Order: sequence, then structure tokens, then C-alpha cells
Amino acid sequence: MIRFENVSITHLKQIGPALDDISLEVRRGEFVFLVGPSGSGKSTFLSLVLRETKTQAGQVYVAGQNVSNVPSWRVPKFRRGIGIVFQDFRLISTKTAFANVAYAMQVIGKSRAAIRTEVPRVLELVGLEGKGHRLPDELSGGEQQRVAIARAIVNQPDILLADEPTGNLDPVTSVGIMDILDKINQNGTTVVMATHDDDIVNSMRKRVIELRQGKVVRDEDAAQYTSTIPIVPAALAASAAGSQAPAVVPAMDDGAPQTRRQRAVSAATERDAAPADDAMPPRLERNRGRIYPRPGARQHPSDATTNGDQP
Ligand code: ADP
Ligand code: MG
Repeated sequence: MIRFENVSITHLKQIGPALDDISLEVRRGEFVFLVGPSGSGKSTFLSLVLRETKTQAGQVYVAGQNVSNVPSWRVPKFRRGIGIVFQDFRLISTKTAFANVAYAMQVIGKSRAAIRTEVPRVLELVGLEGKGHRLPDELSGGEQQRVAIARAIVNQPDILLADEPTGNLDPVTSVGIMDILDKINQNGTTVVMATHDDDIVNSMRKRVIELRQGKVVRDEDAAQYTSTIPIVPAALAASAAGSQAPAVVPAMDDGAPQTRRQRAVSAATERDAAPADDAMPPRLERNRGRIYPRPGARQHPSDATTNGDQP
């Protein structure tokens, strides 16, 4: 659904790269946390998916399309397939909750009839039934974020990006927001959420991709915010030194009894398993559950210019 192949980018006036040779794939229907300290490249990653930023090296594919090949005039249409939610909600302060969501449909020319049925449906989905008439400043932070989520999904995007969506919210409110994102994901939307909220990440047990200084230092399924693998500091040190030192990584399955949530997640993963044509290429599949860098991890874009990941 989203594929990065050897992607590097350095922002204007920036000294080191914001993203440094990133290769990874997010499959259709996945829920992925992008974690890492401030400045590690999370927002830059999301802006590349949205084609707000262009790659300087490597390729970004979204729904089978090389985003560099999307002409400027087609970018708005391309972005219809992607919803985005920010830390600061970004609602129109003079419009009601209903009107904020409706606006996303109006700008793409949806009929009034469609707006009348769809907006109440998504407001209910995010738990805001009966609050559509309120202005943003008549809503709590959590409620404002729910409006923003409703707006992001009302046109039924394949992908939902969330950049620190709980960053301005208290822990209890954040849990409510995560429940909604989880529900949206279970309805089939691919979700990529940048965060440094460790409690949230630990409670969800989703795939975690960790960035440090623009490099992927970890990519684990059903993971925690902090890796439980003791080799991580060594791998990080190797990464910092730019060496290709081998990082020996033990298997992830520690045989521990699964929680109810974990069992639900594995069941859901099996149920929602991507169709064969959406499968991750074997060399990328091998990268999963690993700590970076690894020997022989360098990849070549030349063998992956086609993509069966069609909408
Ligand atoms: P994160 O979202 O993980 O905090 P960012 O992707 O925002 O990280 O930033 C990654 C790096 O790129 C940081 O070093 C940041 O200072 C730099 N950066 C981000 N945006 C810009 C920009 N527009 N101009 C210059 N440097 C930028
Ligand atoms: Mg950021």
C-alpha cells in the first residue's frame, strides 16, 4: 500500500538527512506506529506519502503509484485516497463540526444528498452524534480531534495518516482516540500513526517502525514502544557509526502467553491477510522483525519498478 525504496531526503538548510536510505513496505489494512524522538523523520515520512515533499533519492509508491510520477495537477485527486490527522486538529474555527466534515465532501464536489447521509454517519462513528452543530471552541480537545478524524475519513480514503494525533490530549482522551483509529483500521483502512506516546504504543501491540536520525532502526510486529530485544543499543551504536556490523537478532516469539488483545490482533491479522498480489516482496518480508542495520540489507530499486498493489 505504501512502499519506500531507498528513500533519502535532506530538507533545505538542513545539515544531515531527514530520511536516510529508507526501505520498507506497509501493506493494505495494516496499522503501523512510526516512533522515534523528535526530529527523527516521522513527519517527513508522512509528508512524502502525501506528496507534500518529493524524494531526492529513491522511490515512494502509494497504492501502486510512484508518487514522483503524479503530475502536479493530479495531486489533489491523488490525495483523496489519503486522510490525515494532525496533533493540532486544524479545524475551521468558524464552521460547526458538521460543516467542517461536510467541507471535505464539498471541495470534491459531492452532492448535498451524499453530505446529508455521510456526515452524520461518520460523526456517529467517531462518537459525536448530537454534537454536529457545535463550533470547535465549544468542543473539548478530544472531541475536536474526533471531528478532525471524521473529516479525514468521510471520503473513505484507503490510507489514514496521523501525525501525533494524541499529542495534545490527556491519556484517557487519547485512549478514546486510539479506539476510533483502531475501528477505522478494522474497517479496512491502512493506518500509519507517528507518535512518541509510549503508553499508547504499548497498549495497542501493533507493528512498530522506529526511526533515529532518519534511519529505520527497528521494524517489529506486535511490538512495544521500547524494544525488548537487548541487542538494540549495539545496533544503534553500529547505526550511529555508519558501520554494517551484523546485529544478531533473536526470534520475536518468546512463547509468552498472549493477552486477549494480542489474540484478537493475530486473528484479525489472519482474517485481513492481504491478497497475494498485495504481498510484500520476499526481501522486504525478511526485513520484518529485525533490528537495523543488518549485513546485506542494501536493496536495489531496479527490481521493483512494478507493483501489483492496485486499489
Ligand atoms: P519528527 O516528525 O520525527 O519530529 P521531522 O520529520 O519533522 O521529524 O524532522 C526530521 C528532520 O528534518 C529534523 O532534523 C528537522 O529539523 C528537519 N526538518 C523538518 N522539516 C524541515 C524543513 N521544512 N526545513 C528544514 N529542516 C526540516
Ligand atoms: Mg513530527
